[in-house]
Amino acid sequence: MTAQIIDGKAVAARVREEVRVGTAALVARGVTPGLAVVLVGEDPASAVYVKGKTKAAGECGITVFDHKLPATTSEADLLALVHRLNADPAVDGILVQLPLPKQIDARKVIEAIDPKKDVDGFHPVNVGLLSQGLPGGFVSCTPKGCMTLLAEAKTVLSGARAIVIGRSNIVGKPMAMLLTAADATVTIAHSRTKDLAGEVARADVVVAAIGRAEMIRGAWIKEGAVVIDVGMNRMPTGKLLGDVEYAAAAERARAITPVPGGVGPMTIAMLLSNTLDGAKRRAER
Ligand code: NDP
Repeated sequence: MTAQIIDGKAVAARVREEVRVGTAALVARGVTPGLAVVLVGEDPASAVYVKGKTKAAGECGITVFDHKLPATTSEADLLALVHRLNADPAVDGILVQLPLPKQIDARKVIEAIDPKKDVDGFHPVNVGLLSQGLPGGFVSCTPKGCMTLLAEAKTVLSGARAIVIGRSNIVGKPMAMLLTAADATVTIAHSRTKDLAGEVARADVVVAAIGRAEMIRGAWIKEGAVVIDVGMNRMPTGKLLGDVEYAAAAERARAITPVPGGVGPMTIAMLLSNTLDGAKRRAER
């Protein structure tokens, strides 16, 4: 079997166009979606992510409020900024780029963001809404993007056996919750999982979010499975590799996401979509 390549770039472009159209409609009603992007310090990878998010938001007509703070910023100062943004009616979404410098407790900052503006979906209130299957919250962007890609590949999730490898709060756990809500039978694997190969081999849907280049071997993939590779591993050569051994997996899978060009572009697209949703809710208040 030669796998369908799930083109995350194309799907993300479609989502971004939908956000652009939705934003224009809202602006016509006098509400301009606003996204505050907070970057503390000079971590080069974070700077690249923030630049990408800022550019994409601007292209959709979302107003971006850029806040670049020095690496020496105190926790109190960052919390004070978050409180100001919470109170600012022009701000629908607040994104604090992680990781934060050592002197700042990221958890405190996430919990300080108004859940109604938490477009990253990291606040415990939003995680709670997701886990209880309740509407009105924000879903973490990367797993939300993965669900869109699964839909793009016409994946039947109801009754399917799914495995999520990785149990982080930002990817693995919300991904498992979304798959459960879609009626899949979900296994969550992690670094203590015994017989990972055997667990993967049983799965109709594989979502890899580990951070280890090509750890999921192609030979483990069940014939006809759908594979979503969240991993982004920069090799010393500069090449970006996923968590799945792509070429070998593509020979067995029915559909697979490439790295780059799979999940990555979806994360930004979903951030924009969440920001628009926040602005729509403001317009309805
Ligand atoms: P974390 O480091 O927070 O979590 C990694 C998870 O992988 C942990 O749950 C860990 O298990 C598990 N793990 C580590 N080693 C093994 C192993 N040998 N066998 C099985 N499981 C293992 O990473 P994130 O969730 O933040 O990110 C995962 C990957 O996704 C990274 O490559 C990251 O760059 C990428 N990413 C990509 C995004 C995108 O937009 N495409 C967005 C976010 C992340 P344990 O809990 O036991 O330690």
